[in-house]
Amino acid sequence: MYEEDYAVKILSDFIKINTSNPPGNEEEAVEFLDSILTKEGLETQIYLPVKKRANLLSKIKGRKKGKPIVLLSHIDVVPANPDEWDVHPFSGEIKDGFIYGRGAIDMKSQTISQLFAFIDLYKKGIVPERDLIFLATCDEEVGGKNGIEYMLNEVKELQEASFVLSEGGSFIEENGFIHAQIAVAEKKISQFMLKAHGQGGHGSMPSQDSANEKVIKASYEIISHKWPIKVTGVVNSYLNGILKDKTIEGVRFNTLKEGLKNKKIREALEANPLFNALLRNTVVPTILKSGEKINVIPSEATIYFDARLLPQENKENFFSRIKKLCGKDVEVIMLDGSAVDPKPSSYNTEYFKGIKETIRRSKGDIPVLPCLLTGASDLRYFRNLNIPAYGFFPAVFDKEEILKMHGKNERISVENFINAIEMTKDIVNFLAKCR
Ligand SMILES: [Zn+2]
Repeated sequence: MYEEDYAVKILSDFIKINTSNPPGNEEEAVEFLDSILTKEGLETQIYLPVKKRANLLSKIKGRKKGKPIVLLSHIDVVPANPDEWDVHPFSGEIKDGFIYGRGAIDMKSQTISQLFAFIDLYKKGIVPERDLIFLATCDEEVGGKNGIEYMLNEVKELQEASFVLSEGGSFIEENGFIHAQIAVAEKKISQFMLKAHGQGGHGSMPSQDSANEKVIKASYEIISHKWPIKVTGVVNSYLNGILKDKTIEGVRFNTLKEGLKNKKIREALEANPLFNALLRNTVVPTILKSGEKINVIPSEATIYFDARLLPQENKENFFSRIKKLCGKDVEVIMLDGSAVDPKPSSYNTEYFKGIKETIRRSKGDIPVLPCLLTGASDLRYFRNLNIPAYGFFPAVFDKEEILKMHGKNERISVENFINAIEMTKDIVNFLAKCR
């Protein structure tokens, strides 16, 4: 039996280890988790891809060989500026019933929940049907090269996993209603930059060959292009689940298909940044790099774009479209070199069903919906191998809390965290029974 205070202290101490990525420095955090596992008698293995970066794996042997079930989490966090926070982001401060700090939501609280559930199963002497692996990785926040990518190459059995559970979904509370989101797919990162060259010189005598004008014109074409709405199965299930019977702009929402035909509903959905991102590719300029002096015309200009494609989109088609929009005056340079092309995980599986039943046993008959993540996570590497991979952390968040995730004053309430540990145990108990 773990004690609640102990769990809270562990999370607080874990947050205190600054794993901001870059640079990451996850080795100390891995040693911290390792000491907890070994103290309980579990065997562990630490993998060091490069200096100060580390991954941790522990396994409970199952009845059958091969095809393990993996509890996956990343231990790096995005950087935090202490000046913007009310408490220091790496103090792990516990105040007014909340545990504060970078990683309190994304995703150190889930790492600790998985850790406790894993240890709990082991201490109860339960032998899972399949090997159960606890895997904590580094480097997720900048792409996973030293983390999950390294581990998949190093530990071949991970490539044959039968199921992976990690981050992405949770319980969402809105206007007194609660529903569960289980992330089964994510959009594809397709970042790129535009670069143009031109005649540099003095601002008082411009030539017609301007690098800045070329990237601005090309960017304008990209920005004004309206990517078509395409409904995927996951998004259809999700939006129908949360919007059914709601009134939008005075119109009753029945089904997504019908709603999109109604101008008022369609425009309201498009005006909501999340819904809009679920329904179409998004392409947005993020970094503009060009001249440095007001009276000097630069000879080179670049604009970076963050683009996220719907799961069914083809990257090649997307980039040929971008090139067509840009014209010949600019160079389009793709920035995501990885060959990962994840397909959505099916949600017609024993795993989805089992997790849903586990949820309903303690939360009652709430909607449990598959969802598409607009961001990217390490799960894309498993989906790329056609391994069912879900993102679900059984904690309850409202919209405001979710926004704190990569922002300031990230926190999780003690009650929420403790409940999440308990439900993670229930889920792991279920997974232990999966053949
Ligand atoms: Zn994360």
